[in-house]
Amino acid sequence: MRRIFCYALFFAILLPDLAISQSEPVDTAMVAKIRDEGLNRSQIAMIAHQITDVAGPRLTNSPGYKRAANWAVSQMKQWGLSNAALEAWGDFGKGWELQKSYIALKEPYYQPMIAYPKAWTGSTNGLITAPVVFLEKMDSATITKHAAEIKGAIVLVSDGTKKIKSAFNAYASRYSDSQLVKMNDMYWFTRKMVDFYLPMIERQKKIKEFLVAQGPAALLLEEGGGRDGTIFVDGGPEYKKDVAPGKTSVVLSTEDFLRIQRLIEGGTKVQIEMEVKTNFDNGDLHGHNVVGEIPGTDPALKSELVMLGAHLDSWHSGTGATDNGAGSIVMLEVMRILKTLGIQPRRTIRITLWDGEEQGLYGSYNYVKNHFADVTTMQTKPDYDKVSAYYNLDNGSGKIRGIFTQDNEQVIPIFKAWLAPFADLGANTIANKNTGSTDHQAFDEVGIPGFQFIQDPLEYETRTHHSNMDTYDHLQIDDLKQAAVIIATFVYQTAMRDAKIPRKPKPNAGKWIFDGLD
Ligand SMILES: [Zn+2]
Repeated sequence: MRRIFCYALFFAILLPDLAISQSEPVDTAMVAKIRDEGLNRSQIAMIAHQITDVAGPRLTNSPGYKRAANWAVSQMKQWGLSNAALEAWGDFGKGWELQKSYIALKEPYYQPMIAYPKAWTGSTNGLITAPVVFLEKMDSATITKHAAEIKGAIVLVSDGTKKIKSAFNAYASRYSDSQLVKMNDMYWFTRKMVDFYLPMIERQKKIKEFLVAQGPAALLLEEGGGRDGTIFVDGGPEYKKDVAPGKTSVVLSTEDFLRIQRLIEGGTKVQIEMEVKTNFDNGDLHGHNVVGEIPGTDPALKSELVMLGAHLDSWHSGTGATDNGAGSIVMLEVMRILKTLGIQPRRTIRITLWDGEEQGLYGSYNYVKNHFADVTTMQTKPDYDKVSAYYNLDNGSGKIRGIFTQDNEQVIPIFKAWLAPFADLGANTIANKNTGSTDHQAFDEVGIPGFQFIQDPLEYETRTHHSNMDTYDHLQIDDLKQAAVIIATFVYQTAMRDAKIPRKPKPNAGKWIFDGLD
C-alpha cells in the first residue's frame, strides 16, 4: 500500500508541474556556457579578496564600506557594465571607524583580553585603568544597589550566560534531503514579532541610560554566547544623527567574561586596563547603494527589469565575509559571467548592492520606495510594473540547495524547470515557503516578486554571522562558484522569458517591517 501510495503521491505532486515545467523553456546551451565560465574561469576568489581583505569591515557609511563600494563600481566599469555608480538613497547617519582597541586584565595578574567594541561606541578618555564592578542583572534595582561603586569603574554586564556552549556537534553542516523536504518558513523578523519586542527594547534602552547616568568609565558586555574567542558583536542606534555616541561598550569573549565574573564573585579584586579610540564622521550622512546594468536589447522589453542583489554592508569585527560579502561577491560574479559571455538580454539586467541592511534593510527599502512603491501607502511609481523579479543571496557562504517561493505557487513550475539542470550540484528544492529578514523582503512587501535562495547553513549561525571570525578564510569558494552559476541562469532566463514572472495579488498598504526597530 505504502509504496503504491508513494508513487501516487510522487506523480500527484510532480505530474501537473512536470507538464507545466516541461513547457517552461530552458536554454540548455546558455546554461552550459554559464557553467563552463563560472566553474572553470571563476573570478570569485579575486572578488572575495577585494571585498573582504582589501576593503576591510564594511559598516554602513564607514571608510571600509566606501572602499568596497568604489571598488565594485570601478570593477563593473572594467567589465564593461553600463550605468555603474553609487546611488544615494537618503539619510542614513554618521560614519564610524574603530582606530584603537586595547583591553587587558591588570589585577590580580596581567593578561590581554579577547574583546571587540560595539559599532558606533564612543572612545575612552585615553588609556584608563579601573576596578571592575559586576552587574549580575541589568535592572534598575541592581544598578541602584551598586550605584556608589559604578562611578568611574568598568562595569561587567551579564546577559545571563553561565557557561560556554558544548562543542560536541560539528560547527558546520549541510542540509540533508529530509531537512530540505521539511523546509519551513524561515523568518527571523515579522512585523508581529517586532511589535512584540519593541516595548522590551524600549525598556532595555531606559535601563542602559540609567546605568550610564551613574558615570561608569566603560561597559564590558557578554553577548551572543560565542566560544573559542569568537565574539558576536553588532551595534545600536548611535549612528543616527540625533543620537549621541554611546558610552564605550566592548563585548568580551565568553571565556574572558566568565573568568572575571568568577573572580569577582569569589571576592578577588579585579582591575582592567583599556583604551578604545573611535572616529565619527558627521560629513556625508547619506547612504549609498551600488548599481550597474547590462542593458536590454528587445525594443518591447528592454525597459523592463530583472534585478539581482545582496547587501554590501557588514558588521565591523571581521571583514563581513559570509555576511554578506558572500552574496555581494556572487552577484558581482554573475554580472561578470553574463557580460563575458556577451549575452544580449531582452530585458535590462540590474545589479544592486545595498547598504544599511544590518540596521534595518535601509538601502533596499528606500531603493524600492524611491523607484517602485511605498509599502506604507502602496502608492506605485511608473517603473513598478516594469520589474519582472529580484533575486537575493544573504544566508552565508553555503551553496544553493533550492529557492523559496515566498508563497507564490505560480513560480513553482518555472523554478523547477530552471533548477533541473543543477540537480547534480545539489540544487533541486523548491520550498513553497517564505523567508525573510533580508533584502528581497523590500520587494516582496510591495508585491514585486523577490526571492532568496535556500543555502546550506555551513557555520553561519554557529561561527561567522556578525562575529569577529567572519573573514575570507570562512568562505567556501566552490560553494560560491556554484551559486553564481545557478543565479546567472535564473537571471538570464528571467530576462529572456516572454512573460514577466507571475505576481501574487498586490498587497494593501501596511507598516514597514522594521519601523521602530534598530
Ligand atoms: Zn546579512
